[in-house]
This record gives sequence, structure tokens and C-alpha cells, in this order.
Amino acid sequence: MENFTMMQYFEWYCPNDGSLWKKFARDAERLKKSGIDSVWLPPAHKGMDGVDSTGYDSYDLYDLGEFDQKGTIRTKYGTKDEFIQAIAAGKAAGLQVYVDIVLNHLGGADEPEPVQVRKVNPDNRNEFISEPYEIEAYTKFTYPGRNGKYSEFKWDFQCFTGVDFDNRTGESAIYSIQNQYGEGWDEVLDQENGNYDYLMLADIEFRNPAVREELKRWGLWYYNTAKFDGFRLDAIKHMPAGFYNEWLDFLRAELNQELYTVGEYWSPGNLQGLLDYIDATGGRISLFDACLQGNFSRASKEGEQFDLSTILQGSLVEARPELAVTLVENHDTQPLQSLEQTVEPWFRAHAYAIILLREAGYPCVFFADVYGSCYTDKGDDGFDHEVTLEPLPQLEALLALRKQKAYGEQRDYFDHPSCIGWTRAGDDEHERSGLAVVLSNGEAGQKAMEIGSAFAGRKFVDALGHAQGEVVINETGWGDFYCEAGSVSVWTAVD
Ligand code: CA
Repeated sequence: MENFTMMQYFEWYCPNDGSLWKKFARDAERLKKSGIDSVWLPPAHKGMDGVDSTGYDSYDLYDLGEFDQKGTIRTKYGTKDEFIQAIAAGKAAGLQVYVDIVLNHLGGADEPEPVQVRKVNPDNRNEFISEPYEIEAYTKFTYPGRNGKYSEFKWDFQCFTGVDFDNRTGESAIYSIQNQYGEGWDEVLDQENGNYDYLMLADIEFRNPAVREELKRWGLWYYNTAKFDGFRLDAIKHMPAGFYNEWLDFLRAELNQELYTVGEYWSPGNLQGLLDYIDATGGRISLFDACLQGNFSRASKEGEQFDLSTILQGSLVEARPELAVTLVENHDTQPLQSLEQTVEPWFRAHAYAIILLREAGYPCVFFADVYGSCYTDKGDDGFDHEVTLEPLPQLEALLALRKQKAYGEQRDYFDHPSCIGWTRAGDDEHERSGLAVVLSNGEAGQKAMEIGSAFAGRKFVDALGHAQGEVVINETGWGDFYCEAGSVSVWTAVD
């Protein structure tokens, strides 16, 4: 088996010029050659802000850039045809393609309607702070621009648990919709804010069986239209776990496909929350390792004060390696975004070495670390900030090392607060495989590590070129590997 690597093929600030699907189609072969095996594409359906929507504000799930809705036919990323061609090009290049599924909420309803609601306390959504009364809620989705093509389903207040805007008074609050499926929220695992079902816009009501049936029909239509390989599920922390159990079981059985699935349950520092979700979904869904990403961010900000030997502590990849998708950054953690939790540039090669060159986890490489990005947006201070993200210079080499060398028994030396390392002994299946990694967040470090007596007498150099000189493995299979201050070195055999 070869090591497998995913790439998140977008960042928040990709241009809205409709070029992303074409760019991916052009890039696919080169990505595969560089060591990428699967790609997560952004949501392809029309969002409420037309070409300015990233897709995380779903308006019409059946509009993949085909209908004149929200002021545009195409989406931010291109047209439906370009999307389908991009997936085909990815698959022709040998990539698996995962599509982004956003089913927690809809936004940009076609009409408001009178709806009975109760206001809730935003800090404890289980607490009503008003009697039932009528507001004008944006909950009618009739899709006049699509005119019933693919699906006649019309959404109304019976399909939503809550909204945050009363069109009659202009008031913003969290309104729990009083419909026939209950006066309160869908049950979700997360206890934050009492109940964290409600995130934004018009929150989908999964207790309504007609909604569940429509979303299954849509899932089948989507697969048959776009022929993807799997899913990335958005905002699952805000949805009842049982819905995706039912939805995935249905699609996997109906289509007789594995449909690999990774979910976004974003709660850094709350490993138990991730484990509870895995239990509730019976291992059907892998999760992004938000906990490890949080460790990376802290390590990058605390510098030498951070105890590197604890870098994996509390992570999903340590607790449930087979279901962990490891990452360094994503479109939400990048600077000026909603879950901003950046990994400082000096630590990115360290973090990528950890996710790419170790045994456990399914690593996901971030678009901006490959291509870089430059953008301006408002910060929490209300002022515009210009951000430049540089591509990570070592990433190409690290991807190649993962593909060619990172195999075999792993020996860990997480035994010093500012210098850690590990070795991979290589295996028979991958010729010339095996490597040794040393990384430091303080002074230059040296570490005696065992790589195996098969390497006795062999010379190793740093494949990243950060450390000079060579290391010769002694007859018992140990070497004195080293790295520069605050640096990372990956030692591989030269002969
Ligand atoms: Ca919800």
C-alpha cells in the first residue's frame, strides 16, 4: 500500500471569477505527480450571495451553476459543466474527489412567511425568553429560477428549526420555530450554548421525514450527476448524528459505493466531543483532527515555551488514528476567518512533517500552503487587514518523502521539551524507504535514534537541506541525527 494524501483544493479567498473548477482540471495531473491522491473541493451548489458565496450558505442544492438564480448562473467556482468536467479530469488523473456537503442550513429564501416562534436565550438555547408569537421568517424556498427541474420540493417553516431574523420588525435574535415537529431544537451532541443545533440562517429540521427523504433523493441525484468518490460534511456539530447515519447508509447501499466521508466537527481542545460523535456515528465518518490543529497553532505561537513532547497529546490521531484526518490549516482557521487559529510560518514545515511522515492519520494539505494567497478583509477590530500567505517551500519535498520513504516500523523519541524525533525503518514493498526526522522549537538539537540494523554503515543526509553534513548509521542500527535551531530535518539514505 502507498501512503495516501488528501488536498483541500480551495481557501476562503479564492477569486470569485469562476476559475476554480477549470484550474483544478488543469492541475489534476500535476497534483497526482506531486503526491496528492484525493482532493476535497468546495461546495458546488449555489449560495445565497451568488458569485460571492463560498457555498457554506446553501441556497439551492440542485443548482450547481446551471440556473439564473441569485444574480448568476455560475457559482464563485464556475459552471455546472465545468464542475463535472473537473471531477472527470481529477478521476482521469487518478485522484479521488470528495465533494463538500452543507446541510445544516439554507439561506436566501425566496419569500418570507408568517411563522410562530419563541425567542431563546442565545447563551442557553434551551431557555425560551418569550411566549410564542408570530414573526415574518425567511423560510420559503420555491426556486422560481429552477422551476421544478430535478426536484419539485419546496421548503417552508415545517422544514426548519429556527431563524435569526424577523422581517416584520427587522429584529435579529435566535428564534425557535414552533412547527409540528417540536417547539425546541433538534437534539445534537454538543452542549455548548445549551444546545448548538442553531448555527446560522434557516436551520434545517431533521425531525421532518419529508426533509430527510428529499435530502436522500438529492444525494442520489448529486452522485449520478457528478460521480464523485466521497464527502466532506460541513458543520456536523450542529446536526443530529442520526441524520448522517441514515443518509450515508442509504447512499452507500443504494449506490454500492464506499463513499469515504470526513466530517467537520470543529472543537479544538475537546477530544471527547469528537470521540462521542464517532461513537454516535459508529465509525461511518472520519473527522478532521481539530485537536491536533489546535496543538500546532499553540506550538507555533508559544515557540520554545511549548513542550514539543506533548504535541500529539489530546489529538484524535493519537486516540482514533484510523478515523483521523490530520491538517495544518483550513479555510476557517486561516487569518481573518471565523475560526482563525493560524499556524505561524516557522512551524508549518514542522507540522507538515508530523502529519505527512508519521504512520497514523490521513493527512490533508491546505491549498494556500501549495499556492499561497494574498487578500484583504476586515479583522475583529473592524479595520481592513492585508494578509499574504506564502507557499510552504518544503511542502513539495515533504510530499515526495511521504510517498517514497515514510514506510515501515516507527520508533518515537518524544523525550525532550524542545527537540523530538522519530524514525521509519522502511519496508520491503518500497525500495529505499526509511527516514529519520528531528525537529526543534529551540536550540539546535541532536538525538540518538534507532532506524534498524539493515541500515548499518549507510550514510544519511537531510533531504530538506536544512542541516549540513551526514550521519552514518552504526552497526546496531542507530544514528546521531540532528537539526538546526527551530528547524526540521528529514534524514534519508544517500547510497
Ligand atoms: Ca442545525
